[in-house]
Amino acid sequence: MTKTAFITGASGQDGAYLSALLLEKGYRVIGGIRRTSTGIIHRLAELGIDKDVELTTFELGEFQHILRLLDKYKPDEFYNLAAQSFVGSSWDVPLYTADTDAVGVCRILEGMRDILPECRYYQASTSEMFGHVREIPQTEDTPFYPRSPYGVAKLYGHWITVNYRESFNLHASSGILFNHESPLRGVEFVTRKITLALSNIAQGNQETLDLGNMSAKRDWGFAKEYVEGMWRMLQQDEADDYVLATGSTHTVRDFVGWAGESLGFDIAWEGEGENEVGIDRKSGKTIVRVDPQFYRPAEVEILIGDPAKAKKQLGWEPKTDVRGLADMMAKADYDRVKSGRVF
Ligand code: GDP
Repeated sequence: MTKTAFITGASGQDGAYLSALLLEKGYRVIGGIRRTSTGIIHRLAELGIDKDVELTTFELGEFQHILRLLDKYKPDEFYNLAAQSFVGSSWDVPLYTADTDAVGVCRILEGMRDILPECRYYQASTSEMFGHVREIPQTEDTPFYPRSPYGVAKLYGHWITVNYRESFNLHASSGILFNHESPLRGVEFVTRKITLALSNIAQGNQETLDLGNMSAKRDWGFAKEYVEGMWRMLQQDEADDYVLATGSTHTVRDFVGWAGESLGFDIAWEGEGENEVGIDRKSGKTIVRVDPQFYRPAEVEILIGDPAKAKKQLGWEPKTDVRGLADMMAKADYDRVKSGRVF
């Protein structure tokens, strides 16, 4: 029997990789996208699956609409990847962020509870819930301390998932994913901003890369590997919560250095704070600067996850390290800039 999966946020980075994985496994994949996203399914096109995913409008704010979709498609598995997912924007649109990332989760779970209780549910939780971290590294048992409206909203999404599992016996799992990147990452996130800007600088289209806090440390993995972990969570007999991470952490500055190396730069760092600059030793040019407009009102200084439980129970392990990731992303962006096909 062909299984049906419903993926919200199918036009995003994780939605595209997860769609590809599930199609490969023989699933019928229904991709929920916002009405306004119809023109931007380029990630699915990039993976060559834009004709294979059945797209449908999906709005997290509309309860009746969610009920109708559950009733129409009766998915075996439901992956909720839709969100206002950019931390920086969440201070500008905190109420929208709460409605989608927090209450939206409850709308889906309410629908499943009433009309599709046998459906397995995946909630996209995030390391941003650890925020001002209470311990290093962070595990499934580390107390939460979110530091942005995004983190706060996602924390509700996480706990309502746990609560509906415990209250109504839903097979609802929450994946606490640390930062996961790829050539399909949105350009507002720092890794992609770096690889695209350096590719433009290398080809003479741009003078500098302007960043905020370069000392922030993140545990960056490869998104394509993380969606495999999502799927594995839903294949378990019992639903549960899992951290997916690499177990290593690096600064934004390190990532700039590695992406730069892949594109032929040799960056030396000079100065401190707002005056810090990155100078390319080969050309003598300043190619990285600090712009305080990219500082956040409250920062998450360090994230580093311990994926031991996922390894033990799901047999999941990350394979790509951060240098490999920076190299892959830098080369992909270099080629895109060269061929004029940037998104
Ligand atoms: P996040 O961990 O979900 O917030 O992922 P981001 O990729 O947006 O940000 C990762 C880290 O990079 C955060 O600590 C940011 O403060 C830091 N950062 C420094 N400069 C920038 C920038 O120009 N853009 C973004 N998005 N982040 C930056």
